[in-house]
Amino acid sequence: MTKVINISNEEYDVVVLGAGAAGLMAAITAAKNNKRILVLEKSNKVGKKILMSGGGRCNFTNRYVESHHFISRNPHFCKSALTNYTPQDFITLVEQHAIEYEERKHHQLFCKHSAKEIVNMLLQECNDLGVIIMTDCDIKGVESIDDRVFKDKIKLNNTNYRYSVNAKISDKQGTKELKILCESLIIATGALSIPTLGGSDYGYRLAEQFNLSVTERRAGLVPFMFNDDLKNLCEKLSGLSLPVIIECNGTEFEESLLFTHKGISGPVVLQTSNYWKPGDSIAVNLLPKFDAMENILMEKGNNNNITIGKYLNGLMPKSLIIELQKIWWPEYKNHSICEISNKELRVIGALFNEWILWPTSTEGYRTAEVTLGGIDTDEIDSKTMEVKNQKGLYCIGEVVDVTGHLGGFNFQWAWASGYTAGLFA
Ligand SMILES: Cc1cc2nc3c(=O)[nH]c(=O)nc-3n(C[C@H](O)[C@H](O)[C@H](O)COP(=O)(O)OP(=O)(O)OC[C@H]3O[C@@H](n4cnc5c(N)ncnc54)[C@H](O)[C@@H]3O)c2cc1C
Repeated sequence: MTKVINISNEEYDVVVLGAGAAGLMAAITAAKNNKRILVLEKSNKVGKKILMSGGGRCNFTNRYVESHHFISRNPHFCKSALTNYTPQDFITLVEQHAIEYEERKHHQLFCKHSAKEIVNMLLQECNDLGVIIMTDCDIKGVESIDDRVFKDKIKLNNTNYRYSVNAKISDKQGTKELKILCESLIIATGALSIPTLGGSDYGYRLAEQFNLSVTERRAGLVPFMFNDDLKNLCEKLSGLSLPVIIECNGTEFEESLLFTHKGISGPVVLQTSNYWKPGDSIAVNLLPKFDAMENILMEKGNNNNITIGKYLNGLMPKSLIIELQKIWWPEYKNHSICEISNKELRVIGALFNEWILWPTSTEGYRTAEVTLGGIDTDEIDSKTMEVKNQKGLYCIGEVVDVTGHLGGFNFQWAWASGYTAGLFA
């Protein structure tokens, strides 16, 4: 016997799960195609990560975005979406809303005043296009109607609805339960980093419900911690910052390093963390563009009566020299370079350009800016962001196995993948 579903009065063309960067961009784009859009957000506020990003100024994109700025099991996957929606497209939107911005080093674009302007811009667009956003929403379940038609022989009342979403919405009036039907469902619930800013595993659980594979996940753009002698060194130098190069697993970055109470941070460390796995070492070059071994040996050749510490003065912060001296050349602390053998000088000199460190761990999802890994890109059509074997289901933003470098790339991926799904949903 064929059962008949009674369509409830909550019906939309597109339902977006998650009102972050990707979800809001998808909603705006789909609404421009005259679709009826509902966005469901579990937090009390939309775009919490946007608000906290870039130190409150939101590094909303980068002038030069290419696929090599992203990490994914399939490095080509991001190309199509990034071509559909370019940094210039987002800059144009920002300019239309008269948001002042500035370009910082490495072509990173930031709001001049506040990240709030980006959230307000997205909300203004949603409002103008009639997008409905419900916050404080607890999604109880999602079901594919197509699957039920197949499994339970349910017949639909001449509609194209493919998904039903059960949700509980709490507002000032109280709590109400909704059954929502939609043609397209977009998963934009982000990833695991910073639970207090909306980080959740919901997207992965939903993906698994639809039998999509999810790649291994780990915290990215995150500081390193040490629990050996190095922790003491870092603690003593806490607050000190200097330009370095760090190499890890064949990838290197040149930027500033910051010592913290627990280990090391700063842009160069955050970038490196995307390439680091537990058990890996990193190589820190404390004196980029200066061959310490060669120069120290040359200094010895000049017969100068100078200690290694004195020689390095001016090349790196004094407090760092003092701490390194304690671990690298304590016995030669008061010796002039001339009194130290070439063999010893070679060993010590090499350490400045290649200091091998073994981080114990990262600070984890509590402080990570992103989550590496996610819904396997093999499951998704890169041209549309639609799941290949699940008509009408889309996955966008950080929940997908695409992670950007530091510098506005993660937002550009959110805008581009959201825009692409919005075009086709
Ligand atoms: C502190 C910080 C600073 C950052 N700074 C930058 C920067 O300057 N530049 C840059 O490019 N990137 C930055 N990032 C990374 C960037 O914020 C993310 O990559 C981006 O927000 C991902 O967008 P998204 O829409 O996929 O996910 P999110 O922005 O995380 O949005 C997901 C939304 O889904 C909601 N949600 C989760 N679970 C559910 C559920 N079950 N039901 C309903 N809703 C749900 C969440 O509450 C959230 O609102 C930063 C990240 C952090 C944490």
